[in-house]
Order: sequence, then C-alpha cells, then structure tokens
Amino acid sequence: MIFLKTDDEIELLRQSNLLVGKTLAEIAKLIRPGVTTRQLDKVAEEFIRDHGAVPIFKGFPNPYGAPFPGAICTSVNDQVVHGIPNDVELQEGDIVSVDCGTYMNGFCGDSAYTFCVGEVAPEIRALLKTTKEALYLGIENAVHGKRLGDIGYAIQQHCEARSYGVVREFVGHGIGKEMHEDPQVPNYGKRGTGKMLKKGMCIAIEPMITQGDRQIVMENDKWTIRTRDRRWAAHFEHTVAVGVGKADILSSFEFIEQVLGDKAI
Ligand code: MG
Ligand code: MG
Repeated sequence: MIFLKTDDEIELLRQSNLLVGKTLAEIAKLIRPGVTTRQLDKVAEEFIRDHGAVPIFKGFPNPYGAPFPGAICTSVNDQVVHGIPNDVELQEGDIVSVDCGTYMNGFCGDSAYTFCVGEVAPEIRALLKTTKEALYLGIENAVHGKRLGDIGYAIQQHCEARSYGVVREFVGHGIGKEMHEDPQVPNYGKRGTGKMLKKGMCIAIEPMITQGDRQIVMENDKWTIRTRDRRWAAHFEHTVAVGVGKADILSSFEFIEQVLGDKAI
C-alpha cells in the first residue's frame, strides 16, 4: 500500500532528510587516506543522536543473519551497498559509498553519496559522475502523472549508454514513517509503464551502477553486496516527494559539496 503524504508530513520528512545531508557532510570532512569506516560510523552516530534523531540502519533486521551493526553503510570500491563499517584504513584512490538513514519526529531520512579518497582514477570519477547524473535524471521524472517506469528508464538508459551495469536486485523504495514502504523504485524500466506517480508520494531513488558486469554477490557477513567481477560500483541516493511538474528533493548534497568544494563530482 502506498501512503500519500500531506504537506506537513513532507516537511517532517524534509527535516529528517536534511539531517542525513548534514551527517554526510560531517563524514565528508573526515574522508582521507588512513581513516577507517568505523571512525566515520562513530562520528555519524554521535552527530545523528546529538540532533535528537536515531540512526535507523543500526539494528536493521536481516533475514539471512545478524542485524546491521553500524549507523551507516560504508561500501568501498567493488562493494555496491550495505558494507559494514570496519577497521580497514581507506587508501588513496579508493571510493566509498556512505549510505545514511535517520528517524526523527516520526519520519525517516535516507540518502547516500559516493566519496573519492584523495585522487581517484579518471575512469572511476566518470562512473561516479554518470551515477549522480542518472540519479538527477530519475528525479526529473518523479512528477505527478508520470509512471515508475519513467524513472527507471531514465536511469537505465543514461548508464547503459555508457556501458555501465545497472544493478537489478536492489532498488529504491517508498519512504515515510517506515524506511522501506511501497512502491519499489527500480533503476531500470520501460517508459510509460508501472504505477502512476501522484503528488504526495515520497520515494528514495538510488541508482547502484557498476563499472563492468551488473551481477552481484553477497559476502559471508550476509550484508555486504559486491560486484561479481570485482570491478567498482557507485551509489547515490536522494529522498524526494513527487510534485506537480517538479519533484521536491527532501535530502540534500549541498552540505556535502560545500565541504568538498571543487573536488565534488
Ligand atoms: Mg539509503
Ligand atoms: Mg534507500
């Protein structure tokens, strides 16, 4: 069942999502060679709790194993999503997708950004740039009267035209009082197909794009998803409210990109 949100509910969602954007900006300040994802996780959890919110990923149940132990997901290089923060130091040239979720005032925030660690190879920067562009092309289609397939089509064709892979097994989602609500929001699809988008629908759009083949595997920790061919992957995510003529982006990369300056993708 899809819950349409009132304007007041959308403002609460915005508050939770802006906190995610600010948390990711705190992380952006710390990302450099030598830092561990566990250090990033600690900073994120403190920042979220200091702002009266809960890191909703922490303790998230897993049908295959233990609940998620971190406050954020940190997915490095060939890891696509759901990486667990650990004590491995990030190295010059790595990329790390940081996915962050909050719960505040009864509503969830969910957004992700893939960061460069120092100087990253041009072909990897190109992957990140295309993934971020694809996210915004998807968002352009999150308008009243279009269909879910229009979002997926826009993302898929932008990435596949550049010979990247579009992960099928994990998708975007409705979001509100729960982090994962209906509908599912695939990053692939056919124009003019799928559920009709309506004003007040709130969805997280999150392309997961691979440099090579789109096939993925789950690591033994039962959380981390990586590419089967071990080529690298990127992930960018915004929570948006479907609007008339234009989507309202409730999360924000502005805080992050103020920190990154001209190093932003
Ligand atoms: Mg997310
Ligand atoms: Mg999400």
